[in-house]
Amino acid sequence: MTVLLLIEQGEEELSRQALTLAAGLGPVEALSDAASHLPVERLWVAEGIGPYAPGAWASAVGQIIERVQPSAVIAPGTNRGNEVLAHVGARRDIPFAANCTAVEGDTLTRVRWGGSLLEEARIHSPLPLLSVAPHAVPAAGGAGSPEVETFTPALSETDLVAQVVEHVDEVVSGISLAEAKVVVSGGRGVGSADGFGILEELAGVLDAAVGCSRVVTSAGWRPHTDQVGQTGTKVSPDLYIACGISGATQHIAGCKGAKKILAINSDAEAPILASADYAVIGDLTEIVPAITAELRKARSA
Ligand SMILES: Cc1cc2nc3c(=O)[nH]c(=O)nc-3n(C[C@H](O)[C@H](O)[C@H](O)COP(=O)(O)OP(=O)(O)OC[C@H]3O[C@@H](n4cnc5c(N)ncnc54)[C@H](O)[C@@H]3O)c2cc1C
Repeated sequence: MTVLLLIEQGEEELSRQALTLAAGLGPVEALSDAASHLPVERLWVAEGIGPYAPGAWASAVGQIIERVQPSAVIAPGTNRGNEVLAHVGARRDIPFAANCTAVEGDTLTRVRWGGSLLEEARIHSPLPLLSVAPHAVPAAGGAGSPEVETFTPALSETDLVAQVVEHVDEVVSGISLAEAKVVVSGGRGVGSADGFGILEELAGVLDAAVGCSRVVTSAGWRPHTDQVGQTGTKVSPDLYIACGISGATQHIAGCKGAKKILAINSDAEAPILASADYAVIGDLTEIVPAITAELRKARSA
């Protein structure tokens, strides 16, 4: 049976990853608000849907569900993909499973706890709604020339109560992670987005870039572009300073090219110590500012 895929404009890589999972379940028809060259059977283009509004997208998805009668609806695991499917699920009173990496019948594998475990779960639903964990499955390649059907979704006032009104570009500054000679990277042990302040300070003194683990990006403390690892950026600096990072194999895959690794961790048994050239065992909230202060003192002497 046909599977309905949500294509998010501007998120081609993640949409292609979602296509990989969808294509494993059946022929794929897709819904978007603009042309797409993804290799799907048919492309439904929603016209006049306006600036992003989760309710409007939930209505559009609902209208295409009625026409296509798909066996499942798949979206990329972006903020919008997850938000739209949550709205669709709430409207139809059916479950939505986020962050899936595989589907076999009614059994799903999905990423939980910020990437620290893979859960096997069963979904009992007449229409499974699934988003695909970012950077966990390969992206479908190739280009297609799908049959295109345009339609104008019927929208009500309540579909538009929450709507994007303005885009503000992120200010990108500093040194690029992939090219930095020194990377100061933080993990769950940093504790919060604000906790990265002391890492930023140390990075400033060392002309370093700031990186992080996947737990950090999953928690929304830092953007995905800062993630080091198997599903993030691979770095090869002269020095990689891993603060509050346990050293999972998926993280080490991204920093093993570093010439030297300094681990700062409160756990003397943390796996990162097996990959580290130097280690300081203790609380990073004390150690990182102490290193910054010593460097400043040495430089002003
Ligand atoms: C398909 C897949 C792909 C993945 N890709 C990546 C990837 O690209 N990159 C990545 O990083 N992970 C990736 N992961 C996730 C990975 O398996 C780990 O879950 C993740 O790296 C753990 O992040 P962490 O080290 O920050 O957190 P944790 O494993 O929770 O470790 C936190 C560490 O902080 C220490 N700590 C706590 N408090 C303090 C303190 N005050 N001072 C000092 N130390 C402290 C603890 O002792 C611990 O060692 C992937 C997982 C999967 C399933």
